[in-house]
Amino acid sequence: MKTTDIYDKYILNTYSRTPISFVQGHGSELVDENGKVYLDFFPGWGVSNIGHTHPKVVEAIQKQADKLIHVPNSFYNSLQARLAQKIVETSFNSKVFFANSGAEANEAAIKFARAYGAGTRYEIITTSGSFHGRTMGALSATGQDKIQKGFEPLLTGFRRVAFNNIQAIKSELNDKTVAIMLELVQGEGGIRIAEQEYIREIRQLCHKFDLLLIIDEVQTGIGRTGAMYAYQHYGIEPDLMTLAKSLGGGLPIGALVAKASIADTFGHGMHGSTFGGSPLICAASLAVFEAIEEEEMLENAKKIGKYFVSELNKLKEKHKIIKEVRNLGLMIGVELTIPGKDIYEKCLEKGLIINCTSENVLRLMPALNITKSQIDEGLQIIDEVMKVIA
Ligand SMILES: *Cc1c(COP(=O)(O)O)cnc(C)c1O
Repeated sequence: MKTTDIYDKYILNTYSRTPISFVQGHGSELVDENGKVYLDFFPGWGVSNIGHTHPKVVEAIQKQADKLIHVPNSFYNSLQARLAQKIVETSFNSKVFFANSGAEANEAAIKFARAYGAGTRYEIITTSGSFHGRTMGALSATGQDKIQKGFEPLLTGFRRVAFNNIQAIKSELNDKTVAIMLELVQGEGGIRIAEQEYIREIRQLCHKFDLLLIIDEVQTGIGRTGAMYAYQHYGIEPDLMTLAKSLGGGLPIGALVAKASIADTFGHGMHGSTFGGSPLICAASLAVFEAIEEEEMLENAKKIGKYFVSELNKLKEKHKIIKEVRNLGLMIGVELTIPGKDIYEKCLEKGLIINCTSENVLRLMPALNITKSQIDEGLQIIDEVMKVIA
């Protein structure tokens, strides 16, 4: 039986899948089972920020797999300790809880906020167009009807307001509000970037009313925007930050990072995860940080991001279907005047993997270590495809 047929028979039908089966990947290249090579401008939906099978990550996994893969959190493991230290040293004065995914990291943040509210305050203000994951709490926080539909009753205590609108937040504040939760760049929401002033005002509101500022950096974190964490572009610090996607170099991990001054909100027995922070995954994650630092990937992401966007803006002059190019570092959205599905499919035929989100936004998030010549190769394919479509 073909792989696709086995899927049809044995796998629940939750995804719309492209019928390609990859067997190998290195850096920004993927190879399918027929030997066709693809250039990957959307590695793992933001999981493989340092490219596929980075040698440092591979080596770390191989070495650690031989020693110890998992120990429960009722004991200590030095790799979890070192990874938490690394996250704190690259972010803000904080403490870390390890989970296994973005949704779980956000669940931890939601529980933390409820614990902080101590039974009297529990409402979290969220923004429309946001995406926080698919578990019941995270989906209740997500500001998109299409993700919530059919799963009611949702978890109560979320108030969804317009994004980039401080007034909308102010008018929902009440004596039950305990937190404001948002992404600085809405990824699934179409690369919508939070304005500087908006975030500064939110930070002030949070100080004034003792609210927790929860920043979901599941997609923006670990270098994607040219800074290790997107909040670093805004001159503020969150109270809670959630991480996942690229943190494990391809292995599943999530993290809640909580400001040190409030970290004791969680005490013994208040939260947990069987797999969270296992030695194997922490070893991989430490290798991710090492690779980013040693290979100066943040610098590259900034530089290449600028170049890529200026070239995309040249394409905008040429192709009237491009309405706007938006980016923070290598997190790039190309908004079209038409649906982007055809462009996604035609690029794929020509061996370029991109993503289309919010129907008409091409999402381009190449690896942080992508080269200029790979960007040029991808640009040429996008140009050719747009010529045919327009
Ligand atoms: C992907 C994503 C999530 C959910 O992560 P999972 O690991 O799929 O649960 C949450 N928030 C944001 C911003 C994301 O991009």
